[in-house]
Amino acid sequence: MIKEYRQLFIGGRWVDSEHGRVDPVINPATEDPIGLAPVGSRGDTIRAIEAARDAFDNGPWPGLSVAERSRILLRMASAMEKRIDELVTLNIAETGCTRPGAQSFQTGIPISHFRDMAERVLPTFPLQVPLSPSFGAGIGQGVVLREPFGVAALISAYNFPLYLNLMKLGPALAAGCTTVLKPSPTTPLEAFVLGEIAEDAGLPDGVLNIVSGDADASSELTTNPLVDVVSFTGSDTVGRKVFEQAAPTLKKVVLELGGKSANVVCDDADLRRAAQSVVRDTILHAGQGCAFLTRTLVHRSRFDELLRLVEEPLSAITLGDPASADVTMGPLGSASQRERVEELIRTGIDEGATVAFGGRRPAHLDKGYFIEPTLFVDVDNSMTIARREFFGPVMILMPFDDDDEAVQIANDSEYGLAAGVWAHDPIRAHGIGRRLHAGYVTINGGGGGLNPDGPFGGYKQSGLGRERGAAGMDEFLQTKTMIWGVASG
Ligand code: NAD
Repeated sequence: MIKEYRQLFIGGRWVDSEHGRVDPVINPATEDPIGLAPVGSRGDTIRAIEAARDAFDNGPWPGLSVAERSRILLRMASAMEKRIDELVTLNIAETGCTRPGAQSFQTGIPISHFRDMAERVLPTFPLQVPLSPSFGAGIGQGVVLREPFGVAALISAYNFPLYLNLMKLGPALAAGCTTVLKPSPTTPLEAFVLGEIAEDAGLPDGVLNIVSGDADASSELTTNPLVDVVSFTGSDTVGRKVFEQAAPTLKKVVLELGGKSANVVCDDADLRRAAQSVVRDTILHAGQGCAFLTRTLVHRSRFDELLRLVEEPLSAITLGDPASADVTMGPLGSASQRERVEELIRTGIDEGATVAFGGRRPAHLDKGYFIEPTLFVDVDNSMTIARREFFGPVMILMPFDDDDEAVQIANDSEYGLAAGVWAHDPIRAHGIGRRLHAGYVTINGGGGGLNPDGPFGGYKQSGLGRERGAAGMDEFLQTKTMIWGVASG
């Protein structure tokens, strides 16, 4: 066992869950247990919410100065940095991500974003802005204050556990909120490490509470009247439920949901680099990334060439347990996720698309939730596989004849999380990017989608609100206008 947690973290203490249930956490590459995690109930969630409420209403955290808050958050960042090797090992075993991914976007990058939030974003955020003196009875008589929103419920998905937890926790804590963090039941361990980090850093009791569990424990976070804001990352199916559940108490809801993002490859693109990005978004974390560009739209004149350039590196992929250094693609996160992907592959074939590469379980691996990297061609944008998220290593390639058609196909989606454009001509690329209905557009691979300041979130049914940087912190702040009379009578 790599990590064993038997207790929840509530009110600054490690406490037994109501029913004392502790479940094994399974390594998706080996199907072996690699840890233990407590399973919280609805009652446990209520205790955690009450602790967060008490810490907000009666504790020091919301009223600390920016410098004091920043100092504690920086101590948390340092504590995580010290434990980075342990977090990488845990992440590989818990998520099945390969080592380079585990070191970068699973741990190193979110920890650096957390540090940046404490070091730069919080100290420079305009928390008090004078009102324009042009109206009213006096001069300089008003101010706009940004205040912590209150108790924040943070619910995350399974694929990037530390990343998703920190993308919520950093801005929520920086804003002065108190929190209840609810990780995915598939990958809960990395969240519990954060309880130890909070203790080491001296975060006041009740500011971070951690409960695990699934829908039962989690839905309480969206209905309980003591919660003020819900930040949710997960599927659009559950996202809709969260929105509905939160409606009776009119909570603020931030939703980071799925995508079916288009990657537009123009006829003047650097095809070699574009092909690398297509391969990357197919195999990286076995395709389990919300913002991966999973619909490749390529100019018809270069379709065959791009297909060849993508197939070649896919043939060289080594599937297996990412604990081995030579493995370049790991498994899906769970047996049920693999079944979902396989069912969608079957639907694609039934609807007339052609599997150009992969499509099966690898014959040489009898353990682990593996599926071969897969390419679909002969796809029409109305097919199920062009509209639904695989959340697996499956890429679809579709041709287009001109830029207008590329934009039309790209935008013909219920989702709008991300998009990419590959073109040599920067004006053309910029023009296409402007027309795409998506919250995060990369041009010629720009930034890999991980700039700490670039607000991240979806158009359309990919969600509501933004994460990262000042925009991410903004979601956890209320706005108060305060005006006083200067010359009454
Ligand atoms: P999921 O929707 O199944 O679960 C997400 C979380 O919701 C889990 O913690 C789960 O326990 C909880 N939950 C389940 N039922 C609930 C309910 N009724 N009320 C409140 N919470 C409930 O998602 P998943 O399978 O863990 O993750 C995959 C999905 O997440 C994909 O669709 C992916 O695109 C999306 N995702 C989005 C982003 C983003 O930032 N936009 C990032 C990562 C993943």
